[in-house]
Amino acid sequence: MPDPASAPPRAYWRRIPALMANELRPEEFLWLLSPLRHQPLLTARRATMIVNRTRFIALLFAALTPLWSIVDYIVFPSTLWASLAVLRLLACLAFIALVRLYRPDGSLPDAYRALGVLFLIPTAFYLASHQVLTAFNLSGLSAAIAAGYAFLPFVLLAGLAIFPLSLAENLILASPVLISQGLAGALNWTTLDWPSFVGAFWLLALLTGVSALAGMSQLAFMVALVRQAVRDPLTGAFSRRSGEELLHLQFSQSLRNGTPLALAFIDLDHFKSINDRFGHEAGDQALMQAAQAITRSLRSGDILVRWGGEEFLLIMPNTDIHQADIALARLRQSGLGTRPDGDDMTASIGVAERLRENAHDPRDLIEVADRRMYLAKKRGRNLVIADG
Ligand code: GH3
Ligand code: MG
Ligand code: MG
Repeated sequence: MPDPASAPPRAYWRRIPALMANELRPEEFLWLLSPLRHQPLLTARRATMIVNRTRFIALLFAALTPLWSIVDYIVFPSTLWASLAVLRLLACLAFIALVRLYRPDGSLPDAYRALGVLFLIPTAFYLASHQVLTAFNLSGLSAAIAAGYAFLPFVLLAGLAIFPLSLAENLILASPVLISQGLAGALNWTTLDWPSFVGAFWLLALLTGVSALAGMSQLAFMVALVRQAVRDPLTGAFSRRSGEELLHLQFSQSLRNGTPLALAFIDLDHFKSINDRFGHEAGDQALMQAAQAITRSLRSGDILVRWGGEEFLLIMPNTDIHQADIALARLRQSGLGTRPDGDDMTASIGVAERLRENAHDPRDLIEVADRRMYLAKKRGRNLVIADG
């Protein structure tokens, strides 16, 4: 038995990942720091979630912001109340515009814009109300309510916690709030009780840290959930539903950039006879082997989808028909594994490419590739067909 005392001590920092969400893989920890290497499906789902939550919060604030006017009316002089009511109305309209203008469509830049606007509205309201309030010399209850206005930056930074954001995104979003708070302090530096200002700023910075941690842990859950939900458990390929989503994403991207997009429809040959002769278990093994063989021959960026039982869709972004031909020739050369009877596993493959087929939507492309796959079956199987 190994003596635990003689085992080399493990650095404590190496144990940190094990203490955190242990459903994350090592490469996925980096995704918590910045969104740069996120997979397209994660990005699309996250963007949808961010826009939905942004609209929910905007709706809530659109109702609450004017409602607070009642409190202002009770405690403030009417001139102050009126100025604040105008600001509140403007903020309310801006929140309503945000709810109406943004619809989740899986685009991250859109989600960022929605988030930016969501934070901009209260920040502008905060700066404007700060100007209005400093003109009045308040005391008693009205001074206490006025002090409440200064809590807005705290609410904003705490609110960051409800979004599944990476560290970099959290810091970028929090920085305008921190900067405007710093500016508001610097502008009134001479009249300010500076220890309490520094104390407040310190609290804001802490809140930013806590919110960033909360946002990152939401992101970690999301990464793990999306990974588990989008894969077919037997083959590890993308499931049909997520494959459809990915194909749509890739199709619109290739349309936008004018780049080619190749699609191969792969159907394993005489697969049923494996099940019939050797049992379903052996069929599953052969299926897994074939999927692994295809995955091994993929380039990074290629996407393998299990479309049906023994049918796969291979999505090849930025690939013209000639390059697709080369890739599939390589796949045929490396093989799809062996059948339980010792023969090579083969497949009939139909290929289509967006620009060449002049396809208007992903379905057109699938249809053409599917038709060519059937043609390959008719012509004797174990074939790649890219025409006809
Ligand atoms: P062809 O060369 O014409 O494609 O013949 P085939 O036998 O492959 O085609 P067919 O579509 O008739 O049969 C596909 C078979 O794949 C039927 C089904 O039992 C089997 N199959 C589908 N999904 C699975 C699976 O998850 N595991 C196993 N073991 N078999 C599966
Ligand atoms: Mg089939
Ligand atoms: Mg088949």
